[in-house]
Amino acid sequence: MNWEAVIGLEVHCQLQTKSKIFSGAATAYGAEPNTQADGVTLGFPGVLPVLNGEALRMAVTFGLAVGAEVAERCVFARKHYFYPDLPKGYQISQYELPIVGKGKLDIELDDGRGGVTHKTIGITRAHMEEDAGKSLHENFSGATGIDLNRAGTPLIEIVSEPDIRTAQEAVAYLKKLHQLVVYLGICDGNMQEGSFRCDANVSVRRKGEPFGTRTETKNVNSFRYVEKAIEYEIQRQIEVIEGGGKIIQETRLFNPDTGETKSMRVKEDANDYRYFPDPDLLPIVCTPEYIAAIRASLPELPEAKRARFERDYGLSPYDAKTLVSSRELAAYYEAVVKASGAEPKLCANWVATNLLGALNKIGQDIDTSPVSADALAGLLKRIADKTISGNGAKEVFEAMLAGEGDADSIIKAKGLVQITDESAIVKAIEEVIAKNPGQLAEYRAGKDKLFGFFVGQAMKATQGKANPDALNRLLKEKLAG
Ligand code: ADP
Ligand code: MG
Repeated sequence: MNWEAVIGLEVHCQLQTKSKIFSGAATAYGAEPNTQADGVTLGFPGVLPVLNGEALRMAVTFGLAVGAEVAERCVFARKHYFYPDLPKGYQISQYELPIVGKGKLDIELDDGRGGVTHKTIGITRAHMEEDAGKSLHENFSGATGIDLNRAGTPLIEIVSEPDIRTAQEAVAYLKKLHQLVVYLGICDGNMQEGSFRCDANVSVRRKGEPFGTRTETKNVNSFRYVEKAIEYEIQRQIEVIEGGGKIIQETRLFNPDTGETKSMRVKEDANDYRYFPDPDLLPIVCTPEYIAAIRASLPELPEAKRARFERDYGLSPYDAKTLVSSRELAAYYEAVVKASGAEPKLCANWVATNLLGALNKIGQDIDTSPVSADALAGLLKRIADKTISGNGAKEVFEAMLAGEGDADSIIKAKGLVQITDESAIVKAIEEVIAKNPGQLAEYRAGKDKLFGFFVGQAMKATQGKANPDALNRLLKEKLAG
């Protein structure tokens, strides 16, 4: 009873540089195995690593975005372990002097009553390092293949404080971090391809007690798996302790098929790695000018954008949050507002509800939307100037999605122009009234329900094109006599 979990996450985030962190070999995903493995990647004798300046810039960008101190001087260290996908026998990483120091990330959590609560998760540090290669167990009977294309891809490892208390908080933190690195343009965020992966450190304690022994579950590569892995691990640890057992500090592996974690190996201690400064690489010095230039180039971050959308466009927090969820979506929305001149709220409804709903259905996203921002703006203009009704607009939008052309040509082709000329509407109403004297008498005698009948007839007389507001108003006047 009264158990509490303590969770700290280590996130490996691939930096989207074109070439590797210490050599000119390409980093693109999906190439033929070992075609992107040069001498440095292969760890040949006599080769020397040279730091990729773009990787450094991206790491600094991250540090500034989480309000962290960026080290004026940082050092690369060799971390030794033996594994077939690591030809040098050591990984170049950072140990005592990482590039990014303490920072923080604010997360939002459901309060269970339809609102949100806020929590701040501390970031301990972030350091630069090189990725390892991949072992391929499929397609090799009785043997393992090694693909070194990924070896040497730049990573930042982002270490959180043990501030997280539930699996839901862990997922909220990861999603926030994921959104941030994608916004910053430093990571493509592709979790299936391993661009953003997470190790979950979990321990449990009775409330008020000191931290318990933790396990580390490795390389969980989806938000849902992280949640499941942590929930499983919390439950398992509670059961072990309640059963009189002890948690051992170990590395575990999550199995998505069973939803369970399994012991992989006893955790190494830092001294097992024999860290020491890499003599092949000079310490890195970031001058205040260098850092200031990167700070000046930071894009508007999601929080700031969301506040601006609420303020400048009068959007609800919910709509604003949806629209800033990616930089591309936010840019699309702003382009629609600008090009249409329509009410920002109307634009928000169309983008956040109609467009996203439709894209979801056809399995596209905003970058591949068949309806461009300009095209949608063309439609919104015609709603704003009352050329078409709300229903007409939906019909036009469907046709635009199907590639039938721009809003104006579809409106014309389908004859959807609304009649807003009141004299034309009055004329139709008068004809309908003249044709239905019986109903008119009943209506005037108090049978209010017949109003709907007259609306229907008058709409029919205008082929459904009358502006509904005007029609209702004028009909009421005429029926009153
Ligand atoms: P290592 O280098 O061995 O991985 P670190 O000190 O870097 O260890 O910590 C790794 C992660 O473990 C951090 O995210 C930290 O917040 C988390 N952590 C540390 N102690 C605990 C604990 N008792 N329970 C859960 N997580 C913890
Ligand atoms: Mg670690």
